[in-house]
Amino acid sequence: MKYLEEFQDPALARRLLEDVHATVTRPWALMEVCGGQTHSIIRHGIDQLLPDAVELIHGPGCPVCVTPLETIDKALAIAALPEVVFCSFGDMLRVPGTGRDLFRVKSDGGDVRVVYSPLDALDIARRTPDKQVVFFGIGFETTAPANAMTVHQARRLGVRNFSMLVSHVRVPPAIEAIMSSPHCRVQAFLAAGHVCSVMGTAEYPALAERFGVPVVVTGFEPLDILEGVRRAVHQLERGEHRVENAYPRAVPERGNPAALAILADVFEVTDRPWRGIGTIPGSGWRLAPAWREYDAEHRFGVTGPGTREPEACRSGEVLQGHIKPHECAAFGTTCTPRTPLGATMVSSEGACAAYYLYRRLGTGPAAATGKEATPVG
Ligand code: SF4
Repeated sequence: MKYLEEFQDPALARRLLEDVHATVTRPWALMEVCGGQTHSIIRHGIDQLLPDAVELIHGPGCPVCVTPLETIDKALAIAALPEVVFCSFGDMLRVPGTGRDLFRVKSDGGDVRVVYSPLDALDIARRTPDKQVVFFGIGFETTAPANAMTVHQARRLGVRNFSMLVSHVRVPPAIEAIMSSPHCRVQAFLAAGHVCSVMGTAEYPALAERFGVPVVVTGFEPLDILEGVRRAVHQLERGEHRVENAYPRAVPERGNPAALAILADVFEVTDRPWRGIGTIPGSGWRLAPAWREYDAEHRFGVTGPGTREPEACRSGEVLQGHIKPHECAAFGTTCTPRTPLGATMVSSEGACAAYYLYRRLGTGPAAATGKEATPVG
């Protein structure tokens, strides 16, 4: 398949790996920002093929994982209202809120529907004028333009029974928060290509300069990741900290001007809590005042019913790269994809789910590093 197979070429992968092995002279810790990158790394065993001196730390870039518990609880409260049709992407339905999830609301009689686009939810609203249709608009910069466009479309079509529960998050403030933590070990970032295909790369040079870290924008195929690691390691070994675009087939430096324009119109920057991490200033988007009539929180006036995370769940530490998923005592025992305690075990982009699906870890030194274990799947 074009644009996939050529980025999974084993001979090229071997050459990139040889380059990394030949370049590294001391330990380096790189963080891949996005959960899609994490899944590719774990699925293909890329971290196990790198020199022991190169550690990949898994970052917080999974939108399902970082959606705050209080927002999940608000979604549960809105979805349970008799007049509401609650529409969401499928992976949000099993994310545990305080005491239950959207599947449970559905089995209790709530009208919860899986959709594949926010426009599907708008279409339901047009066909169901006697109901309030709410779309759960979560995600990073990648999904925000489609949600902004849908709100635009709702106004243009005069659809008044549609609203959105918005919980968008932004990558650059998260990088700033990670680098500002006293526990931070990250020395370089592999930035998420799909985010940059919308936003461009203009937000990153200031971060690279301020924190002295290389930032390499990568795609998601094995060669994309390996090329990103190779470039980051070369910069680190030379003492450089620049922004490099290793994903030019999808990322124009200036991003997508049409998407940026609609984002600037519909959303405004806000402080946003990240699940398991806490509030990061300026790290979210919410609907701007001119679009507030489509804001589900405003329309339904819900408040979270006293949110509470399971004590055993260490997903906040996983999302900040402080521990690997298998270092959580609940991993694979009380917490599995069928019985998730935290969102990082639910989402298809969650680090805990990636380790569970693609890697079986025993005990001893291999489990401590995750390096020598045998990948499966
Ligand atoms: S393994 Fe489960 S309980 Fe542990 S951090 Fe991951 S999601 Fe939370």
